[in-house]
Parts: sequence; structure tokens; C-alpha cells
Amino acid sequence: MSGAESGVPVVGRLAPTPTGFLHLGHAWTFSMAHRRVRECGGRLLLRIEDLDLQRCKEEFVEGALEDFRWLGLDWDGAPEFQSRREELYLDAWRRLRDGGFVYRCGRSRKEMSTLAPHVEEPVFPVEWRGSVEEARCHETPSGWNWRFRVPDGRRVVFDDQTFGPIEKMAQKDFGDFLVWNRDGIPSYELAVVVDDLAMGITEVVRGADLLTSTARQLLLYEALGGCAPVWCHCQLVCDAEGRRLAKRSGGLALRELRRRGMSPAEVLELAAAGVVNPC
Ligand code: GLU
Repeated sequence: MSGAESGVPVVGRLAPTPTGFLHLGHAWTFSMAHRRVRECGGRLLLRIEDLDLQRCKEEFVEGALEDFRWLGLDWDGAPEFQSRREELYLDAWRRLRDGGFVYRCGRSRKEMSTLAPHVEEPVFPVEWRGSVEEARCHETPSGWNWRFRVPDGRRVVFDDQTFGPIEKMAQKDFGDFLVWNRDGIPSYELAVVVDDLAMGITEVVRGADLLTSTARQLLLYEALGGCAPVWCHCQLVCDAEGRRLAKRSGGLALRELRRRGMSPAEVLELAAAGVVNPC
């Protein structure tokens, strides 16, 4: 059931990460987010996901806004910037610590990658877990990685507007995941859930590459005591070689297509021709 069908006013969001220029896949996803909200008279908020200050650039923020305008995607109110919301994330971290949901983790990315060298995101081994009791001795997350302790063998099920029922198993599809990074910033998973809750988001539209993240995020909703939104994951757009688009797929950047004289409608047609199911 969508938010509109349930009678709750729909609040959606556009949430670009300004680490590069938007490409065809973004046009597809963001247009879907916009269309679904506008069709039911809901509100659409804009959130710039700029927590990674090393990789995010002002140029890409400006670029995303320009591309949205060109595509005809408008939003309501002033944009929010994740980089200005640290207090909210810290508050959520304290609640997770107090609730016994997180622990300090000394394992490095290198150690993780030696577990399964060819796997993008290996499942964190339960033997490497830290103590949620010890976590209570920390006033702040500072200086450490912090992980969410995923309930053993937990089956997370949700209904997706595109793909129908989705099931992900803890310790098989995903393991204990980061909520805070040693370099002082909250993880994507934590920041997104905290913001979607604080901004009253009722509907999340994003790429199908984030289906497993949704399972993790549902556990955070549960731990933080919030109501999860309606999920709509969009099929991914691939390039001519069948590879998923990345910000480095420069040739399919919206500004490049625009420079070649394509119209927004032609861009969306091209995207529609390239959509594939998630791997
Ligand atoms: N910022 C993410 C992106 O640009 C989207 C995150 C989300 O929608 O949850 O891919």
C-alpha cells in the first residue's frame, strides 16, 4: 500500500550525494521519486548527502541542482545538508549505545577485505563482535568505528513497490554494519534513517543497489523506535556493456547528454531502454 492509499500525506525526498555529476541512472530514479510524489499531491524535500567532506564538492552540489532544474524536478522548501546535522546523528548514536545496539570495533577495512577478497561487502564475522556493555563506557563515538549488532539469523522482510516482497537474512546477506566511522562521521545507513525520520519521509525511492541497505535500515528503524517509509527501489540503468552506471561513467553524465543536444524526455527514454534488474 502506498502512502497515498493509506491516507497519510506523502513526503518524499531527493537525496543526491555530491561526489560527482549526475548520470542517466540518477535521472531515472529521481524522476520516479518526483513523479510518484507529485501525482498524489505530496511534498518533496531535498537533502544533500554531503557527509564525506573529502569527496563531496560544492561544484557537484551546484551541478545536481542545475540537472534537477533541467529535468523539471522541483522540490519544496530549502535544501537540508547532512554536513550540518551532526547533533541529530550523535543523539541517535547515544540512543543506540544506551539501548545496547552498538559496539566499538577495532577491525580495519584491510582485515575485512582479506576475509573475502572478491566480495564487495563481506559479512562481518560474529566472532569479531565487540561488547555492547563496554560501549556504555563511551561518552562519544569519536576515534572508533562503531557497528550495529545485527540479531543472529534475523529474517528481514519488506514489501517493495517495484519488486514485491523482499527477504534478506542476517549473517547471510549482511552482517553487523557500521553506524559510525573512525574518521568522525556517521555511516550512510545511520544518517539516512535519522534524517528520513526527522524529516517525516513517508516514501523512499532509490536504486535497487540499495535493497540490502534497506534491510539494515529497517533494523535501525526498529532500534530507534520509528515508523519505516514505503519503499520503492528502481531498476538499475546499465551502459552498453551491461555495467551499472557509476559517477565515473562520464559519457552518460546528464550534462554531457545535454551538451549533445538531448532533451530531458529523450534522456528518460534512453534510461528506460537501459534499465535492468539488480544482480
Ligand atoms: N545519496 C544516495 C545516492 O545518491 C541515495 C541514498 C538513499 O536514497 O537512501 O545514491
